[in-house]
Amino acid sequence: MEKILLTCVECPMGCQIQVEVEKGEVLSVTGNTCPRGKLYAQNEIKCPMRVLTTTVKTYDGKMVAVKTDKPVKRESMLSLMKKINAITIDLPVKIGDIIIENLEGDANLIATDDLQ
Ligand code: SF4
Repeated sequence: MEKILLTCVECPMGCQIQVEVEKGEVLSVTGNTCPRGKLYAQNEIKCPMRVLTTTVKTYDGKMVAVKTDKPVKRESMLSLMKKINAITIDLPVKIGDIIIENLEGDANLIATDDLQ
């Protein structure tokens, strides 16, 4: 059995969570103050997810700040970055504009900046 220590990032309290894992299966979760922490810990062991934040090129040379509107699989980050780096977009762009729809599953890549 393996013991893994995690810091929950679901809220600013940052609870220290201990997870007991055997053969990829979560045996127990302790240290979480609320159920969100237990879910976070289980997901971290099974399939870690992150919001991807980066920039996209525009045809006039500016870079637009973007992020996914939902967490995506951490293991997918490299392939998603290849997809994102391969595109160039037109301006103007407004905050919330979808840059790539369904980048992974139902997670879209959206602009986080207004750029003319
Ligand atoms: S376990 Fe609950 S209270 Fe603790 S950091 Fe996570 S979300 Fe916040």
